[in-house]
Amino acid sequence: AQLNVPLTPLDSSKLRITLANTLKALPPPEDQVIGKNYTDHMLVVTFDPAKGWSDPEIKPYGPLSIDPACSVLQYGTSCFEGMKAYLGPDGKARLFRPEQNMARLKRSADRLALPSFNELEVLKLLKRLVAIERHWIPALPGHSLYIRPTIIGTRPSIGVSASDHTILYIIMSPTGPYFRTGDEGISLLALGDPARSWPGGIGGHKVGPNYSPGFKSLEQARELGYQQVLWLIGEKISEAGIMNIFAVVKRDDGEYDVITPPLDGTILPGITRQSAIELVSAHPVRTILPGLDDSIRLHLHEQDITMTQLKAWFTEGRLTEIFVTGTAALVGHIGRIGFKGEDIMLTRHEGGGGPVARALYESITAIQEGREVWEDWSVL
Ligand code: PMP
Repeated sequence: AQLNVPLTPLDSSKLRITLANTLKALPPPEDQVIGKNYTDHMLVVTFDPAKGWSDPEIKPYGPLSIDPACSVLQYGTSCFEGMKAYLGPDGKARLFRPEQNMARLKRSADRLALPSFNELEVLKLLKRLVAIERHWIPALPGHSLYIRPTIIGTRPSIGVSASDHTILYIIMSPTGPYFRTGDEGISLLALGDPARSWPGGIGGHKVGPNYSPGFKSLEQARELGYQQVLWLIGEKISEAGIMNIFAVVKRDDGEYDVITPPLDGTILPGITRQSAIELVSAHPVRTILPGLDDSIRLHLHEQDITMTQLKAWFTEGRLTEIFVTGTAALVGHIGRIGFKGEDIMLTRHEGGGGPVARALYESITAIQEGREVWEDWSVL
């Protein structure tokens, strides 16, 4: 063992770039489906407990070599992020609140006791990769380049303890709209057993072990004709698939409550969720919610929603919208929720989505594509 040798920090200035000899063609729009195609290059940087972080490398996309005993293959030691690069009408690439993704990635890595890093260095590297792959960002509306920063534990031992070796890598995939549902909206099957998360669990972190246990429930939902699972914790509504959920409820005074479950550790703190909360809270004082009348008052609440409550609002005719938020689908409206053998059929709105969901969709896409400027949410 080397004593007193300082570990090398993750340093973007040490980046080495090896470009691919031949470049692939951007797939046609119908093949711009998340995860179907990957860009020409990827970023890779590794951590070794004897040395620290390696020099980061951008190199041709290809397989990684890992030991069969390594931590991620045995114990699912992995965490990741989901973010997108958008092309504006000015032809420039933009990222949406990427420092939030980096902060979340760091929290996820810490939750799995993976080595720490300076997340702003990772962001600098990510921006270099986006710049190199700029021509992979589709110019069509609703299309973008999905970015998947990933960290895996590569400690080459089946010993059950923290992985002190890692590979941090970033891959990218051109993508179009996640749900092509039209007016009908997304259908959800409400399921609580098995649960996605529970108090004291890891639901609030973007770690691999949160996802694979949900695949069977998703298959069950699809077999019954629903697109996604509405995750319940007991009676409480948690999330929908890989999206956060909001309900819009008309009050007795004619104003509207916009309600989303609180971040109590069981819910993934979505960056789109946070953005929706901030935009709804700013309305109408600093509003950029297009199409939404300034006289409409919205009251944002981070508050539990139970299925009983939801059904009561629905029966009383007060439930005007349910929508979901996330990087993949952005803002999607829910058309139908299956629960205990019955369907709650939500109000159909012309052109898809109720007024709040549509205003949020328009507003956030305009910011993402740089057509509107809001705070410092969209960066080059
Ligand atoms: N919930 C889960 C479980 C998710 O995986 C995601 C995607 N990261 C979200 C919600 C939405 O988060 P974001 O808005 O940051 O994409």
